[in-house]
Amino acid sequence: MVAAFALKAEGLATRVGILDFDMHYGNGTDDLIAHHQAESWIEHYTSGKEYMAPYQADEFLSRIPEWVANMRDCDVILYQAGADQHINDPLGRFLTTEQMKARDKCVFEMANSLGIPIAWNLAGGYQVDSNGGIPAILEIHNNTMLECIAVYSC
Ligand SMILES: [Zn+2]
Repeated sequence: MVAAFALKAEGLATRVGILDFDMHYGNGTDDLIAHHQAESWIEHYTSGKEYMAPYQADEFLSRIPEWVANMRDCDVILYQAGADQHINDPLGRFLTTEQMKARDKCVFEMANSLGIPIAWNLAGGYQVDSNGGIPAILEIHNNTMLECIAVYSC
């Protein structure tokens, strides 16, 4: 939301898309949009409000083109690539590694095909190994980067 307001204030964007695929419902974003009456220029979709179980994975993946297409009038999409949707995440338990790769590939391909710049950030992820390390989370983030490179390096 800070980035969206900064882009608007600087005149760099008139409409901003916020695509939130963190496991958790982006209620803070919804609250800020409502408080600042920004519904007219921010297109916000937060999957955590309605998608959270493995049986919903196929439907979730199939709807990504629609959600990105709803942002076709935006000057930029801010994409929250949540790692906590992963099936092994203690707070997620939603998507497999392959499904998360498909998620990111679809987001980047759609944004690219619509010609909309996309900025994405690492988010979430609570898998910790027995030594307190986070290699599983880093692999998920790395996979997001690889899907991004695959789309935008062509
Ligand atoms: Zn989260």
